[in-house]
Amino acid sequence: HLDRIAAVDSEYHAFLHVAGDQALEAAAAVDSSLAAGNEPVSPLAGVPIALKDIFTTTDMPTTCASKMLEGWVAPYDATLTSKLRAAGIPILGKTNLDEFAMGSSTENSAYGPTRNPWDTTRIPGGSGGGSAAALASRQAPLAIGTDTGGSIRQPAAVTATVGTKPTYGTVSRFGLVACASSLDQGGPCGRTVLDTALLHEVIAGHDPRDSTSIDAPVRPVVAAAREGANGDLRGVKVGVVKELHSDSYQPGVIASFDAAVEQLKALGAEVVEVSCPSFEYALASYYLVLPSEVSSNLARFDAMRYGMRVDDGNMSADQVMAATRAAGFGPEVKRRIMIGTYALSSGYYDAYYGSALKVRTLIARDFDKAYEQVDVLVSPTSPFTPWKLGEKVGDPLAMYLSDLCTLPTNLAGHCAMSVPSGLSADDNLPVGLQIMAPAMADERLYRVGAAYE
Ligand code: GLN
Repeated sequence: HLDRIAAVDSEYHAFLHVAGDQALEAAAAVDSSLAAGNEPVSPLAGVPIALKDIFTTTDMPTTCASKMLEGWVAPYDATLTSKLRAAGIPILGKTNLDEFAMGSSTENSAYGPTRNPWDTTRIPGGSGGGSAAALASRQAPLAIGTDTGGSIRQPAAVTATVGTKPTYGTVSRFGLVACASSLDQGGPCGRTVLDTALLHEVIAGHDPRDSTSIDAPVRPVVAAAREGANGDLRGVKVGVVKELHSDSYQPGVIASFDAAVEQLKALGAEVVEVSCPSFEYALASYYLVLPSEVSSNLARFDAMRYGMRVDDGNMSADQVMAATRAAGFGPEVKRRIMIGTYALSSGYYDAYYGSALKVRTLIARDFDKAYEQVDVLVSPTSPFTPWKLGEKVGDPLAMYLSDLCTLPTNLAGHCAMSVPSGLSADDNLPVGLQIMAPAMADERLYRVGAAYE
């Protein structure tokens, strides 16, 4: 894999940092343990991984694709990083993303965009475009992403790979640099549903260092993927979300989705249409909740504690802070800090942030009602196939629209997966099928995903 990265990554720019020596050392440690007659420490021992550059690592930089953290090396490993190491999974390096995970195309990286291996003139999705491109270009067999509003699932969809956003609270956020804390969740990415399930079980689990971590056993996702692989979905009830099926989506995406639904029926699933009327407001709610949390979380980048500092020697502390933040953050990050600061300001708090939270509750109720009728819900992962680099950079709202189908799951704290559903008939580019399930029912995603795959 290191040879492959050296040969092709200049074409894709999936990696911000390659850690060849450390990866080889970790692989050698697995080899010598096996040679000494020990059992493998995990089913994935020795299988290398690409890690999104937003999880802290003590032996390589963590930049979050921001100038603000250029060259910064964290003093501790994220819990997820430690779990990978303990499972004998060598970390090949850190992958590119939209700055602090804000974006849907990886074009907001301060270090230049990643390109989609299916067509290098197109975006690989975002924010986890680097991890998805590393998988699709065969530079890594496994990868880690984070999903705040779709950043695992939408890149998976547009690169024909698999990605899961686990139930909120089941994968530790300790050492995951915060974007929006009530939405962020790390998760597994792979090229097959079973690979993704094996990685899911490695990274999930209770962590006392994350106050929102759920103290419950890891869901049996590997067993579910194996069960699903027999292709029998009799007894499974699938709901098609009416509000996530629209004439405004790309026709080839809708056609691929409709064919996927027919296939689920052919596998024995019972398919019904369900309505989630509040999903219409998910985008508006998300783009208030997220910026509000971002404006608060990113206040820590004050030029004193981490990374970059702009200081000509004659500046006051306030001036140093302002100059550093002006130079260190890119335009999308600044836009969201401003929206969030406005939405949280006194006099506007109830009208904006307060209303967004109420809508969040309504969305969770829509889900609860739907799950009284069905086991899983399905929709396209993204309304579009990957667009041309540069096409939406000048139009943030057009960019935000690509998150329409993924946001409700994050707002509710539930789980969802994207699996490849072929190529769109109108442009021959990848389409993803999104499968959603209630909180703490992640195994349903894997059963249905493996049957469909
Ligand atoms: N594209 C969404 C956004 O820009 C989701 C980002 C994410 O999941 N990190 O906020």
